[in-house]
Amino acid sequence: MILTCIVVFVTLVFIPYSNIGFPENGYSEFVINNVNIVDLKNDTILKNQHILVEGKRIKEISSEPIRRNNNNQLSINGTGKYLIPALWDMHVHLTKRSSNSAYAQFVTNGVMHVRDMRGSYNDRDHFASTPIRIRKWNQKVTDMELLGPIVHSIPSFAIEGPNPMFDNSPEYFNCANSEQAKMLVNYFKEQGVTLIKTYNNIPREAFFTLMGEAKKAGIEVAGHKPVRVSTIEAANAGMKSMEHARFLIWESFKGSQKLRNSDNPKEKDNTELRRLMLDNHDTLLLKENLEALKNNNTYYCPTHLTRKADAYADDERFRTRYDEINPIFRFLSFEDLDVTLQEDTTDLGREVYHDFYSKGLEITKTASEYGVKVLAGSDVPELPGTSLIDELQELSATGLSNYEVLRTATLNPSEYYDLDTIYGTIEAGKSADLLLLSQNPIQDISNLKGIYGIISNGTYLNKEEIENLKQKIHSRNNGLLMSAKLFCDMLMYMTI
Ligand SMILES: [Zn+2]
Repeated sequence: MILTCIVVFVTLVFIPYSNIGFPENGYSEFVINNVNIVDLKNDTILKNQHILVEGKRIKEISSEPIRRNNNNQLSINGTGKYLIPALWDMHVHLTKRSSNSAYAQFVTNGVMHVRDMRGSYNDRDHFASTPIRIRKWNQKVTDMELLGPIVHSIPSFAIEGPNPMFDNSPEYFNCANSEQAKMLVNYFKEQGVTLIKTYNNIPREAFFTLMGEAKKAGIEVAGHKPVRVSTIEAANAGMKSMEHARFLIWESFKGSQKLRNSDNPKEKDNTELRRLMLDNHDTLLLKENLEALKNNNTYYCPTHLTRKADAYADDERFRTRYDEINPIFRFLSFEDLDVTLQEDTTDLGREVYHDFYSKGLEITKTASEYGVKVLAGSDVPELPGTSLIDELQELSATGLSNYEVLRTATLNPSEYYDLDTIYGTIEAGKSADLLLLSQNPIQDISNLKGIYGIISNGTYLNKEEIENLKQKIHSRNNGLLMSAKLFCDMLMYMTI
């Protein structure tokens, strides 16, 4: 009996999935007639426009109907609908299994470009990004064998400081001093990494060497701002983006400097410290930090959903967002929430988490007003695509205009990668990665959930095709095959 179970399990682990590809509808070009274009450069809506897409590009936009010049041309009625550029999620964590279902999930929710924020240390690691794998997936997407987003950075394993990132991660990635920092940058360059992901505990000397060497190697550095380095220093040293609103609360209270210079700042992170930070928030210090971000063109990716998860960890309604996902992922998500809860089970603990989350929203509004470039990033790997829409709703709740909110997931990421001549807005000559929405997203950002049509890689997916894909993804995610593969990944991870 046990032997049979083992044989079945191993068989399930090794049965490969077929790629979820692009539907073949055979149209090489199409026109969307009479549609409202959301103009993200001028904060306006261009009404009743006609748009011709040829191959993977926007050929023409006109206020007059575009004449049919090809029998193989699909005509889409855009009356009463709204067209926006495809979305970018600037903080995702791809796993080895992402191409099996998460990839298609991104696209069916409108996300066609992502920045992956954590590479794997080797193939036993559950996270995806070995450079070879990401390049292979990008090629498949470009060749239309795989429906999915383009990944725009190839990230390193997270660099944490003198100690391993996780109990079982190799010491090879420790970064305690300049020597180790140099060795790591060389190693990542040889591997083909394009983004070094930093974490909390990198010592000052190692961090500044890492920044200098990465610059020479032409590798971007993004991630957590190390707690021993000030925001101003990290921005001046050239960090390309800093993640999670939390760091600005840490850096903008009377006592920030003392905490930074203390023995182990991160170890002091508890309810009492968080309360102290909130009670002693210093708007002048915040402005100095924001000015440094703005002047260095350092992007800010607040990932408000991560703090919302802290605040609502005990809320059963919040947990229902994991109802539809694979039980193994659900188990891991609940475990994360429970760890946060156990950290402080008192009412005060909960209250301070709520206040911390709200302060983050407030800071994002100030940052945007100050001219800091904000990036939308979800940081919820279990919910590909839908979590980005949730994050955009968070950004909308901060009080940003919905044009600005949409820019955080379109134009700002395109500028981050110097790709704004190709992506980010709807203009002739630009890439035709587009979303056709049933209702106006400027009126209500949650209208991003009402996707009527998707144009990805020069292919049009209508509502019916999107629904079919969603059903296929849902049954794949909840099937025995996926559970066996995820269980195997977990076993491998635990036995390193
Ligand atoms: Zn993350």
